Amino acid sequence: MSEKQCIKTPPITIASGVNIIKYACLADRCQEGFEKWGDARRHMKNVCHVEGKPKMSDSAEKASRFFTTKPDYVDPTLESRFSGKLKTDHAPSETELVDLVKDYYSKGSDSENHRKHVMSRVIRPTYGHFEFHKFGFGTFEEFSKRHGLEVYRN
Ligand SMILES: [Zn+2]
Repeated sequence: MSEKQCIKTPPITIASGVNIIKYACLADRCQEGFEKWGDARRHMKNVCHVEGKPKMSDSAEKASRFFTTKPDYVDPTLESRFSGKLKTDHAPSETELVDLVKDYYSKGSDSENHRKHVMSRVIRPTYGHFEFHKFGFGTFEEFSKRHGLEVYRN
C-alpha cells in the first residue's frame, strides 16, 4: 500500500445514466476520475507523479473501463454468493427484479411464449447466468406468485 494511493471516486452519473467522468488518472493503482482533462492532468502531475506526458486517449479509455462498466472492486460476499457470476456491482433488490420482469412482460405480447423467456432474455443478460434463487427471493415461481406475476414453468 503506497501512501500516495488515491481515494477511490465513486462512479458519478447524471440522471440520464450518462457518465460525466471522462478521464482517469493513469497511475496503475489509482482509480481517481475527472470530468475535465485539465484536472486529470494536474492530479497526475501533482498527486500521483505519473511520468512522461499522459495521453488524453489513454486516460479516457481507462475512465470508460472504470466508470462505465463493472467497477474493479468486487464485494467478496457477492463474489461467493453468485460464484463470481453476478455481472452488476450490487445484487438487485426484490423491487428492481419485479420492475425488470414487469417491464419485460409489458413489452411483448401477452403470450406464454413471450413470458417464458424472461430468464434468458432479460434476467440473465442483465445479472448473469446463475439460478434465480441466488438472488435470495426464492425460486422464480415463488417470487412471481408473491408479486402476482404470471407464472410459467420451465
Ligand atoms: Zn491518481
